[in-house]
Amino acid sequence: MNNIFDSHAHYSDSRFDINRDKLLMSLPEKGIRYVMLASTDEDSICKNCKIAEKYEYIYTAIGIHPSDIAKTSENYIEVMENAFKSNPKVKAIGEIGLDYHYESYDREKQIEFFCRQLELADKLNLPVIIHSRDATEDTLNILKKYKPSGVMHCFSGSAETAKEVLKLGMYVSFTGVLTYKNARKAIKALTVIPNERLLLETDCPYMMPVVTSVKFKERCSDSSMIPYIAEKAGEIKNMTAQQILDITCENAMKLFRINND
Ligand SMILES: [Zn+2]
Repeated sequence: MNNIFDSHAHYSDSRFDINRDKLLMSLPEKGIRYVMLASTDEDSICKNCKIAEKYEYIYTAIGIHPSDIAKTSENYIEVMENAFKSNPKVKAIGEIGLDYHYESYDREKQIEFFCRQLELADKLNLPVIIHSRDATEDTLNILKKYKPSGVMHCFSGSAETAKEVLKLGMYVSFTGVLTYKNARKAIKALTVIPNERLLLETDCPYMMPVVTSVKFKERCSDSSMIPYIAEKAGEIKNMTAQQILDITCENAMKLFRINND
């Protein structure tokens, strides 16, 4: 399989320290055409910018994740703006959003960070990559206000929520979760997503796909596992895995404004 666009990967993660370059050099020959890196804090913004500079097929998003707010410096907007200005491979703001899973996270601060980064995306004319966990209502209300172009990443919500996201004109992205035994909700959501709004991602090193015919040696997921997700999505949408890869690659190129040449 080829023409693979992994729309959300964390190759700056320390779990890739032992094999990062070897892995990233090997991906194009496994059919990976493009990768979009997601950042979560100032350190990963810096690391991802370097990775994207080094590898032609890799682009990056820059952003502060809601669970990394406490360690973020006050001038993070400036840090992000400078990263954007100094690196043409920066193509999105993300991942940003709301995470209400743990009570200990300061919700007010999260909303403040989310809104400020949405304002920055608007100013820089960049699409956004949204993380939303146990915070659907607030996330949707804020997105309705700012109306960014972007993608709801690692979608795990209901078909009803997916419809709300589509109404906002956004894309919806699915991970290896589609291959899980308890994926009923995600599968139902996928059925309401029109082909032209669908993206695929690994969210690696997380969300390892589960495929009964394959025992992965790797402890982390990586972009070469996208075909297993495409296979599952194809089963649900009555398409071949390659057709899913082709359409999701085209969609991601359009969203992140990556040109063909
Ligand atoms: Zn992520």
